[in-house]
Amino acid sequence: MSHFFYQDGFLTADGHKLEDIAREHGTPTYVYSAPRILENLQRMQKAFDQGLNGKKHLICYAVKSNSHLAILKMLAKRGCGADVVSAGELNRCIKAGIDPQKIVFSGVGKTEKEIRFCLENNILQINAESLPELERISEIAIDMGLKAPVGLRINPDVAGGEHDKTSTGRKDDKFGISYNHGIESYQFAKNLKGLNVIGLSVHIGSQIVDIGPFAKAYAKIADFIDNLNDAGITLQNIDLGGGMGITYTTETPLNLDEYADIVNKTIGRFDGQLIFEPGRYFTADAGVLLARVEYLKVTPSGRKFVILDTGMGELMRPALYGVQHPVRPCREQPAETHPVEIFDVVGPICESSDIFDRNISGQIMQPGDFVAIMVSGAYGMSMASQYNTRPLPLEIMVDQDNITVISPRRSVDDIIANESIPGWI
Ligand SMILES: *Cc1c(COP(=O)(O)O)cnc(C)c1O
Repeated sequence: MSHFFYQDGFLTADGHKLEDIAREHGTPTYVYSAPRILENLQRMQKAFDQGLNGKKHLICYAVKSNSHLAILKMLAKRGCGADVVSAGELNRCIKAGIDPQKIVFSGVGKTEKEIRFCLENNILQINAESLPELERISEIAIDMGLKAPVGLRINPDVAGGEHDKTSTGRKDDKFGISYNHGIESYQFAKNLKGLNVIGLSVHIGSQIVDIGPFAKAYAKIADFIDNLNDAGITLQNIDLGGGMGITYTTETPLNLDEYADIVNKTIGRFDGQLIFEPGRYFTADAGVLLARVEYLKVTPSGRKFVILDTGMGELMRPALYGVQHPVRPCREQPAETHPVEIFDVVGPICESSDIFDRNISGQIMQPGDFVAIMVSGAYGMSMASQYNTRPLPLEIMVDQDNITVISPRRSVDDIIANESIPGWI
């Protein structure tokens, strides 16, 4: 990773020592590299500008991966739109100045209120995931005296993703409308008076590093669009989803040139706007979670645990998906005090799944050391909870010249401020 590396024995972010940041601001703390986010964006823009043969396209950042206003603003300033999955996320995007005509709304459970909010804000497209949802959107639009711009999320029955829980495009996943009922679903939507049927969306999963699942899904979607055209239905937007995979430990990231090439070869014959919904690709390797080692615990059988002051409350991915995040010391340490051992790095939460990295063979960490949990910029803070009444972590954004707190450390008082005790207990 080009923005987090060791310089003179210290792990740095855009030239700033992470240990200094941890000492000054405390832990746990998220640190995001703004230059890395922009580099990730520019790499994608370049691959698409060069590889999509001049086809009109729009990058809609998947806000759920990291929804901080500063990140949304940065991406908005560079032309990005957004993929949102709740009224809350839509609100953030509007606050960050993202053009509503660059916002798509996805998700299987849109409430009436959320649909109304989308229509009031005149967003580009609502990606509907079921027939009852299409009916609901139509009714609300008629009530508001307008036509709702909708796309149908088609489930291509292709598995993609690092993990069972991040695969969304298999036929028995809860997402989308079944491929085999796709054409009749479009005809159904066309007959609803409140809808303007303008798009299609597909999103098969997350953290996909192989081109195979994309190639398979997009080929099926291309055939599907041909069938739609034969049935007299033409579309303005084809939303190809996100899921572009990155490097956590040893993975080779998705090759975007190859990806653009596959898009061209499959969906290229369709004329309209292509939409992409990367989330993790922009933010994951642009963020680290700083923590402090509290204890080194050795079990009677000799198993060693490095126990941190941060856990699944701040970074839930290991507990939720069983994945590992590399943990690196903020300072290179001498072998005398930090000999090579085999150990696990774990959090303080009362759950056995609260483990960041297992069976590491390397220099052990000692109490008082600061460490960085790497590749934590996506689905870190946005999934954080206050489980165990632990305040949410502080967030910092850096570039070469700046170290800026972008959200403060919250207190226990903040957590309990709005709780009340009924008089009758
Ligand atoms: C989560 C999600 C994304 C983003 O996934 P990444 O793996 O972060 O790229 C895009 N589109 C939809 C519909 C999603 O649910």
